[in-house]
Amino acid sequence: MTQAIVIEKTDETQTATLRDIDLPPLAEGEVAVDVAYSTLNYKDALALTGAAPVVRSFPMVPGIDLAGIVRESLHPDYAPGDRVVLNGWSVGEKFWGGLGARAHLRGEWLVPLPEGISMRQAMAIGTAGYTAMLCVMALEDNGVTPESGEVVVTGASGGVGSVAIALLAAKGYTVAAVTGRESEAEYLKSLGASSIVAREELTGKPRALNKERWAGAIDVVGSTVLANLLSMMKYSGTVAACGLAGGMDLPSSVAPFILRGVTLAGVDSVMCPRPRRIEAWQRLARDLDMDKLESMVVEVALDDVIATAPKFLDGQVRGRIVVPVAPGIG
Ligand code: NDP
Repeated sequence: MTQAIVIEKTDETQTATLRDIDLPPLAEGEVAVDVAYSTLNYKDALALTGAAPVVRSFPMVPGIDLAGIVRESLHPDYAPGDRVVLNGWSVGEKFWGGLGARAHLRGEWLVPLPEGISMRQAMAIGTAGYTAMLCVMALEDNGVTPESGEVVVTGASGGVGSVAIALLAAKGYTVAAVTGRESEAEYLKSLGASSIVAREELTGKPRALNKERWAGAIDVVGSTVLANLLSMMKYSGTVAACGLAGGMDLPSSVAPFILRGVTLAGVDSVMCPRPRRIEAWQRLARDLDMDKLESMVVEVALDDVIATAPKFLDGQVRGRIVVPVAPGIG
């Protein structure tokens, strides 16, 4: 038996409880991991509240992230005692996830934790931070350099936004932070933002083209905000789009693409191929200022996770939530 949060559904009613469960026996190619830390991401909040159909099989242990120690391995690449991190691969959606004391996972989903990152730091980064790194890599792949001009980050006070600002600032980019929370301006500047842009500047009816402002953008909001960003990109600019905090739609036109050569680069962390994940984690170990990361962290105990989830959907969460499951083991 192991303790975990379990989401169940009967008829139209979804419930989440913290209770003991039996894990199925370890299958060939799987690894049993004792979870030291997990986290809460926006997607976990959607799963826990049932606000969107994130969970595709019930009962489900949510938690799209975990960091822990291998207890038993039926996979040739892992042995007991290895420190590993897991993000995505539909874990917490289709396969039992990280918000519990132990998880049985496919070996090929795991990434060995790079030297220099503790398990707590790995979960302070979590899917949000690893996605921020993928977004920065997408800008770099498309030729956006610190010399290209200002880079803008939307949903700046949230998990992806906070880590993206710290990563960009560390690389010498001038960063504009878009936020709906004026009260977070000092926090965003402490992470490395040079200027604060009020969210309202990006929520009006999008025009096909607007005055050119930014060389690069990392967008977690989607919808009208993304459409406005596209219309404001400089010639040859790139937007790395990863989120839908403001909606799934995109009320834009082709004008930014065909008249300004703007690139819209999609970023997906869930099925991202393993070599790119490993590169992203190595870059995080090298480039992320761990003091800034610590300033983003709030710890929430496993017993308080279910009550905390709705705060994400109200846009009340700042930075990253870390869930210490068994901190003593790592
Ligand atoms: P958070 O909730 O931590 O941050 C989202 C931020 O967006 C909020 O803090 C707020 O920032 C802003 N925001 C919230 N609601 C709205 C709204 N209605 N309109 C405009 N801005 C809003 O979430 P994460 O950073 O963890 O994730 C952000 C998004 O990225 C989510 O949609 C998530 O699903 C997606 N995501 C996608 C991944 C992928 O693989 N593609 C991986 C990880 C996340 P502020 O108050 O500063 O404006």
